[in-house]
This record gives sequence, structure tokens and C-alpha cells, in this order.
Amino acid sequence: MAILTLEDGCVQLSAGPFVDSIGMVYYAGVDLGATNVRAVIGTEDGQTVGSSRNRTPRGPTGIDVTERVLDTVREACDDAGIEPARIDAVGIGSIGPFDLAEGAVIDPANLPDTIDRIPLTGPISVLTETEDVYLHNDTNAGVIGERFHSDRNPDDMTYVTISSGIGAGVCCDGRIIDGWDGNAGEIGHCVVDPRGRLTCGCGKDGHWEAYCSGNNIPEYARLLAEDDPTISTDLPLEDPDFTAKDVFDLAGADELADHTIEQVAHWNTIGIANIVHSYAPLVVSLGGAVVLHNEELVADPIRERVPEMVMSNVPEITVTSLGDDVVVEGALASAMTEGTGDRRRLHH
Ligand SMILES: [Zn+2]
Repeated sequence: MAILTLEDGCVQLSAGPFVDSIGMVYYAGVDLGATNVRAVIGTEDGQTVGSSRNRTPRGPTGIDVTERVLDTVREACDDAGIEPARIDAVGIGSIGPFDLAEGAVIDPANLPDTIDRIPLTGPISVLTETEDVYLHNDTNAGVIGERFHSDRNPDDMTYVTISSGIGAGVCCDGRIIDGWDGNAGEIGHCVVDPRGRLTCGCGKDGHWEAYCSGNNIPEYARLLAEDDPTISTDLPLEDPDFTAKDVFDLAGADELADHTIEQVAHWNTIGIANIVHSYAPLVVSLGGAVVLHNEELVADPIRERVPEMVMSNVPEITVTSLGDDVVVEGALASAMTEGTGDRRRLHH
């Protein structure tokens, strides 16, 4: 009983800067995105005791990005009132692609060309004095977090983000799937339109992302308007600033907006059904700005229609409760579970 009281005391006191709670185990989660770099510090009992956020520098070199990541981890440790060396393990969810053997980001697509290499695991390992540093792409960090926080902690689970692009993190048979060069979750580049009428940002035709990502919904609305010149609309199709938000804002009030939302729901359902047939998940968790800002118009139709398209077990389809924190929380969950999100691997 006395030990329990002591542990309770640690939980409360650990947030204070002057108390170094001996024996408490700390973990760090890091989210390196094209816009922001974030870090959180958590304790073994799941409390978040420190955090920090900075802009991701646009260079000039990858080392500058590495330095900003290290600064962000230091600031989060300061916020938690601990030295970085107290961190037991670190999880990182990052933009890719990676040299996984070197633990570095290589030629990231969404940062300037002068950034050719961002070393991550080595410098973070030195800062925190731990070998236990787990590097994942952002969608894999997402599925680790969703798995960790899911009631059933399933061995078979998929996290799908529908945002500026579309991608998935897959956990199958309890393993987070990377594939050759980490490309296993590039589900947004599955063909949903065999006619290939829209070209994807990757240069190939007919990909799911070319129709349904936040960046591409406006182009899809333009295509649908061309297909049916009689359809009425107040959407600013010719305006270069026309966005997906304009389409969703006019739901229920504009014929073309409704038709576009309907077609997007159809392709989204095809994409999710392909994932279900490929990986047999118990749970599919949806996230990303397009879903989070339009749950009724994007997630609900998928839930309703997937049973009509799936011949195998129909998974539970949820929307992440972690919101914009899904990657950094997933990275923290990775640190706590040896890179898996499996709660049986929490070490105490
Ligand atoms: Zn593509």
C-alpha cells in the first residue's frame, strides 16, 4: 500500500520542474512533418508531462532540420522538468522517404531540394543516451497510436489518412508492415478509376489520391462539371484558389458540390474495401484533415457503404480520437511498446 501511495505521488509531482522522481520511466514521441516538428514526453503510466512545437526549417541543409528536432526534444524535456538522458526510449513519426539502415530522411518531397538528408535516429540516440529509438513514417506511427489507444488493442488494424494525400499504416498479425523501402502503405496510389481520367501527383493515372485527397478534390469537381454541362453550381471552378473546403461548405446547397461529395464517397469506399480485402483488419481508423473536418460527409458514407462492397469480415470503421496529435501520440506509443503499439509489450 505504501508503494502505491509513493507511485501516486510520483505521478503528480513529475510535472513539477524541481522534482526528479527517482525510478520514473520517461518516453519521448517526435513528429517531424513538413510544416511542424513536435515532441512530447510521457511517463510509463501514460501521462503526458511535457511538450514542445516548432516550425520545420526550410533548410538550408538537413542538419538544420536535425538541430531543430533536437531543440524541440530538449524543450519538451525542460517542460517535463527532466534531462534528456532520463528518456528510456524514443519513437519518431516522420515524413519520408527513409534510409532505414541509417535512420535518416532522404530527399523529402515536401521540403526544399537543398535538404537531401536529415539524420534522425543517431543524433536523437546521442541526445537521450538510449539505443531504443524507433523510426516510422507518419502513417505507421498513426497505426501504432491507434492500435495502442484502441479498446481491443487489435493485432490487425489499419490507419488511413485522407489529407493533402492519402496513405495507410498497416498492422497485420501484430506486425507493423514496412515493405520494400517502406512503401507497403502507399494505398493512395491504388487505381480506383481504370479509365485513368485524372493524373496523380506521382505522375500516374487513375489513382485514388488523384480524386479524393484534399489537394485533388477541386480538380475532380472540375472534371465532373465538364462531364455534365447542365449541372448547376456556384463553386468557383475557374478560381485558382478553389479548394476542397469550398466543396464541403456547399454540401446540401449546390448540385455539383453534392455530386462531387457523392463520387468522392464512392471512390473512398472502393479504396477502403481494397484495404479490407488486402489486410483483413479488425478496425479501420480514419484520420487526416479531409476526414476530421467533414466526418459526416466523408466517414459516414464509407461506414454505410463498405458492407455492400466487402465479401469478408466487415471491420469496425472509426475516426481517430487523437485528431492532429495522432502522429506524435503514435510515436510516443511506439517508444512505450518497442515500436509496436502492442500494450502487452509495455515495459515497467
Ligand atoms: Zn499516385
